[in-house]
Amino acid sequence: MKHFDPRVRLPGFITSLCKSAVWRFSETERVVYLTFDDGPIPEVTPWVLDLLRKEGIRATFFCVGENVMKYPEVYRQILEDGHSVGNHTFNHWQGQKHFDKDYFRNIEKAKTYIDSDLFRPPHGWLKLSQYRVLKKKFRIIMWDLITCDYDSRLKPEKVFRNVTEFVRPGSIITFHDSIKAKPNLTEVLPQAIRWMKEQGYRFEAIPYNKK
Ligand SMILES: [Zn+2]
Repeated sequence: MKHFDPRVRLPGFITSLCKSAVWRFSETERVVYLTFDDGPIPEVTPWVLDLLRKEGIRATFFCVGENVMKYPEVYRQILEDGHSVGNHTFNHWQGQKHFDKDYFRNIEKAKTYIDSDLFRPPHGWLKLSQYRVLKKKFRIIMWDLITCDYDSRLKPEKVFRNVTEFVRPGSIITFHDSIKAKPNLTEVLPQAIRWMKEQGYRFEAIPYNKK
């Protein structure tokens, strides 16, 4: 049974406004794309990498440039393990709070640390003027399903249900390798992977190009 929950999945009329952004891949193949936002940080990311290695899964990490600068060895491990990476700005900036030229400069700064043509805007927010410019420079990757793992008011059972109720073929699924998400993430991610495997889903990293 699917509940309507715009925090987990945005209504179609919104996603159809941003046609150049990717919200979901093939609707026919049972393939899902795990994504991890806001790292890399030593407190959480290595734990995620260990789990993915054990499960034989490749995923995509939308990295904050400042974290890559601070923890280059954690970032290097992501790449060595064969995962994809994407730009999530240098300071986790929300587009609508900044002038375009400052926002673009922040993304350019992140690009000196993150060599990728994938971009995901923090909090999913961009001004239309920013979207128009960025879609020419990057492949903008949004999501089909946000687990809300970062919300400490949500119990792990609810975060798990966000996955089991909303996942579908081609889903891009958003988790967070952040301190805030850690309690939910460490409890839910292993269960969610197991459950999706039982449902016959395969996992792939989002292909990316170095720029
Ligand atoms: Zn983020």
